[in-house]
Amino acid sequence: MDDLTLILNAGSSSLKFCVYRRRAGSGWTLDVRGQIEGIGTAPRMSARDAAGRSVEDSRPGRLADAHEAIEHLAGWLRSRYEHTRVVGVGHRVVHGGRHYSGPTLVTPAVIEDLRALIPLAPLHQPYNLAAIEAVAARLPNTPQVACFDTSFHRGQTPVAELVPLPESIRNKGVQRYGFHGLSYEYIASVLPDAAPEIGSGRVIVAHLGSGASLCALHRRRSVDCTLGFTALDGLCMGTRPGSLDPGVVLYLFQTLGMSAADVERLLYKQSGLLGISGISNDMRDLLASDTPAARLAVDYFVYRATKEIGAMAASLGGVDGLVFTAGIGEHSAEIRRRICIASAWLGIDLDDDANTRRGPRITRPGSRVSAWVVPTNEELMIARHTAALLGLVAARA
Ligand code: ADP
Repeated sequence: MDDLTLILNAGSSSLKFCVYRRRAGSGWTLDVRGQIEGIGTAPRMSARDAAGRSVEDSRPGRLADAHEAIEHLAGWLRSRYEHTRVVGVGHRVVHGGRHYSGPTLVTPAVIEDLRALIPLAPLHQPYNLAAIEAVAARLPNTPQVACFDTSFHRGQTPVAELVPLPESIRNKGVQRYGFHGLSYEYIASVLPDAAPEIGSGRVIVAHLGSGASLCALHRRRSVDCTLGFTALDGLCMGTRPGSLDPGVVLYLFQTLGMSAADVERLLYKQSGLLGISGISNDMRDLLASDTPAARLAVDYFVYRATKEIGAMAASLGGVDGLVFTAGIGEHSAEIRRRICIASAWLGIDLDDDANTRRGPRITRPGSRVSAWVVPTNEELMIARHTAALLGLVAARA
């Protein structure tokens, strides 16, 4: 009987999944990756095999929440995989707080700890936990592993983690945590092969997706990240503003009389590219639009990224390479071009042809600082962690 490991990345309306399979006598290989989108509205399920061929494209009818989505996925897995068993499930969990500095076997006590972090990641954490609970209800004896977006950043210096408020507040867990850690950890793991010249140097990784951040890597370890206490800080994102004068938030409460729920919605769902443009949170739409508001949104995105690249270079005391990854970073030659040109003062000499071809190296040979495109793979990182931890569990049993 073959073993399966399931990797889940559960969001508010989507469930991304990967199935890794271990055939008797061989190692783990990716078998299928897919997603259920539109949970709660108009669900659609799609999946591709390891070669990229479509193996599923359907509209499942109503799926109200994570439990029903997992139920649907379980039925699909049963019909696709006979004579197999799920030996472990790995989850992306956005916030691990102060204490979870590595992948963790899920227990009821762990779930309680993670539930306490929901206010710090309201857009992600509840859905990550709902997926864990839905699996636990179906497969109570299958070990589950939580892999955190914050863990990779633990080990930064006290000043990099500091939120400069009184100790009585900091004692309640108010510090910079950093996010997108699974993506950065994956990039750090492939850097020696993908970009050998900078693999052990000072590197700024730009994860530019619907959430966006930068990570400063020194010898492949995180020394700084533009995301902090929550996933609201730093770069302009699809629907989140990035860095914001905290006085603006006071003004929203005190003068505009907004409620906490309204402010939360504004900051997580209505700001950033969507808020500036009034059109869309999708960079493709904005690049295709010639309205002044869309142009302003793109200009601000580039401006903010460039400014924060300068700050990360200062954190590192200099920089050897810049790596682009995630949806915008991997697929938009135009945004990469604009950020590289605006960062030319750092010593980045863009090679337009290489950039259009998507690299992997997108600077000219003599460029003092090189720039690269390296596709991320958060699910593979989760799979590696899950396999490693389950191996330990099996060895101990
Ligand atoms: P998520 O954070 O949802 O995993 P992704 O890393 O997949 O996000 O990035 C999604 C975003 O990438 C989309 O919202 C879109 O703005 C952007 N994107 C994808 N392809 C392109 C492209 N060819 N040009 C510009 N932007 C793109």
